[in-house]
Amino acid sequence: MAQRFSVMEVVDALAVDEAPYDNLEASVRVIRNPPRDKDGLCLQPDDASAEREVIMNENRQRFAGHFKYADMYVGIGRTHDEQTRYNCGRCNQEAKTKCQLLYETTKGVPFQLTPEALQAGSCGDWENKCAGDPEMRLALKSLESAGFGIALNGIGFSCGRCPFAEAARRPDSRGRGGYCRLGDFTTFYSACCVLNGAPTKE
Ligand code: SF4
Ligand code: SF4
Repeated sequence: MAQRFSVMEVVDALAVDEAPYDNLEASVRVIRNPPRDKDGLCLQPDDASAEREVIMNENRQRFAGHFKYADMYVGIGRTHDEQTRYNCGRCNQEAKTKCQLLYETTKGVPFQLTPEALQAGSCGDWENKCAGDPEMRLALKSLESAGFGIALNGIGFSCGRCPFAEAARRPDSRGRGGYCRLGDFTTFYSACCVLNGAPTKE
């Protein structure tokens, strides 16, 4: 029979768990500082070992957490564009050429997407269109905080279009053939993150 605890015993136990954690003898995390080139970007090591993939996996997860990186295996799947464009016209927030999430000048007034933005505009909140994911008219996020931009290439964004990417010395075990020099990990052409450096229209 399962052991039963009184309410006060549970409260006491939780109180102990939530006390400030100050174990000075505990291990501490390392701060990574991979080798960098003169331009300050990471230098890709010639190492395709499993140990190296563990490090890159951690680095990739960091980008997924902080910079919304997504590919078909890492990050939030709905924010990966297998068509490698991430453009407004194919975003779940787009409805009748208006963005339901962003405003341009007045909160509550949806951002009007130009034909150019529909083709090559994007922001950090892109997600693919999905009938099972209703949106709400909010228009509460500014263009600046969403990182909105229109790609000069007229097509859109992706790691393959980012100046911080270069070819991987060797594809990793999932077939990622690119290398992100900002985050020190292998990536797919179709992946993306909010740090994408593709030139945008002023
Ligand atoms: S501005 Fe951002 S959220 Fe709005 S439609 Fe474009 S990509 Fe989607
Ligand atoms: S290559 Fe560019 S877009 Fe891709 S993860 Fe790195 S910084 Fe982001």
